[in-house]
Amino acid sequence: MFVLPCTTLVLATGNPHKVRELEMLLRPVQVSIKCLADFAATAPVDEGGETLAENARRKAVGYARGLGEWVLADDTGLEVDALGGAPGVRSARFAGDGATMAENRATLLAELEGVPETRRTARFVCHLVVANPAGEVVAEATGQCRGRIRFGGTGEFGFGYDSLFEIVEYRRTLAELGPAATSVIGHRGRAVRGLMAFLWGG
Ligand code: IMP
Repeated sequence: MFVLPCTTLVLATGNPHKVRELEMLLRPVQVSIKCLADFAATAPVDEGGETLAENARRKAVGYARGLGEWVLADDTGLEVDALGGAPGVRSARFAGDGATMAENRATLLAELEGVPETRRTARFVCHLVVANPAGEVVAEATGQCRGRIRFGGTGEFGFGYDSLFEIVEYRRTLAELGPAATSVIGHRGRAVRGLMAFLWGG
């Protein structure tokens, strides 16, 4: 087991939803959480890698070096079986560079037009990487959440593709289930618990 010799961990994301969720998930650990918005100037890190793991490593290493801090980076993608695993690493720009989430969701529904419920299976994959201030990767973990893509969005919670992603056994989308359930059954919760078990023995 490896224990971080730090009191502060910087979340390498500008996404306020991810910050809120990661802060909640990391509450059991005695470490103060910061995010990129807490720092004046942070040069953006190129996320053009081929895999979620590669992008998460690029972010963790790049921001750790740039800030001289311990950093936790998250890269997440939605993999849809009927689309051969797409959008995957392209989840943020499925509808094109600079696309909004509404456009990405509309593209997903259009790509799945005519695909019956039983063949709309999918999973979220979340890859987490921790890097030290020298930019060395010290821990990684992956979490997955299985479900299927609805024909239309429902639910108020979450972000991104959550309103289209149904947990089959509950017949509810992640956006309907909300943060308490998502932290237990969701991809990010599972990845964080894997990371905590490795880093803090918890
Ligand atoms: P990234 O990990 O920030 O690059 O996210 C890739 C894309 O997936 C973005 O469009 C996000 O909105 C979406 N996304 C990331 N994490 C989640 C999640 O936990 N639920 C739903 N959508 C997500």
